[in-house]
Amino acid sequence: MEEKLLIGSHVSMNAPEFYLGSVKEAISYGSTAFMFYTGAPQNSYRKPLSELKIQEGRKLLLDSGIDESKIIVHAPYIINAANKNKPDLWEMSIKTITSELKRTAGFNCKTLVLHPGNHVGNGFDVAIETLAEALDKVFEQDGTDVKIALETMCGKGTEIGINFEQIAKIIELSHHKDRLGVCLDTCHTSDYGYDLSDFDAILDDFDKIIGLDRLLVIHLNDSKNPRGAHKDRHENLGYGFIGFETLNKIAHNPRVSNIPKILETPYINEKPPYAPEIKMLKSGQFVENWKENF
Ligand code: FE
Ligand code: FE
Ligand code: ZN
Repeated sequence: MEEKLLIGSHVSMNAPEFYLGSVKEAISYGSTAFMFYTGAPQNSYRKPLSELKIQEGRKLLLDSGIDESKIIVHAPYIINAANKNKPDLWEMSIKTITSELKRTAGFNCKTLVLHPGNHVGNGFDVAIETLAEALDKVFEQDGTDVKIALETMCGKGTEIGINFEQIAKIIELSHHKDRLGVCLDTCHTSDYGYDLSDFDAILDDFDKIIGLDRLLVIHLNDSKNPRGAHKDRHENLGYGFIGFETLNKIAHNPRVSNIPKILETPYINEKPPYAPEIKMLKSGQFVENWKENF
């Protein structure tokens, strides 16, 4: 059987077509999966689901061959549930995550990607405990079956969840382990210090420390910075320090064939790069100078 690569990108959701527009955008890139925010990434203001043309989008999905269970929602990145120095801000984060789970379920999606947050001077151990406590509070009041995928971060500033051990610790401390999984971002893991050129070794490590069944999403990005730089600046495929060969091998690794791979690479001259990037990954062939000629 021909391999069906589960590949897509971050897509936007704007007026007037909202979710219908997101699905159309994903299809236009040749995607077999995609990721979106249910509102602006940088704030928690959210339009009611009834205005977002969800049923229209889902109808188009049915005809498109995109498996709805491979569509990912990303939580707004202002959330910091790992610090409760300001209790009302922490409570607000818990409220926002709870609301995002409900919204994710409203799109019939099953996975919400969440940045673990920042310790802001309290240190990793305290922050990890605080996050696990926050997640338990979320799950205690949540009636959905949506899983939270904790994203691996690169270690810039006071980020937590920067290596497999820290992610495993968050899950270990939670009383709702069945609701937790992981999003592995290639730019972040490389920027933290992992060598992705032997991805099977990375997966072995992941399996030993977290368990491979917890891997729910891969963010497939090249990095503008060398391994260990702790910078988090994404680059287009083949133009960064990870390189096309390694990223292509990750995309086609049979151990992650049923995991959606999502591109979050930068726009080129205000145009989305995803159609050519997806095409290269599907063919397994890097096109020399594709970016210069884009
Ligand atoms: Fe993210
Ligand atoms: Fe990411
Ligand atoms: Zn990033």
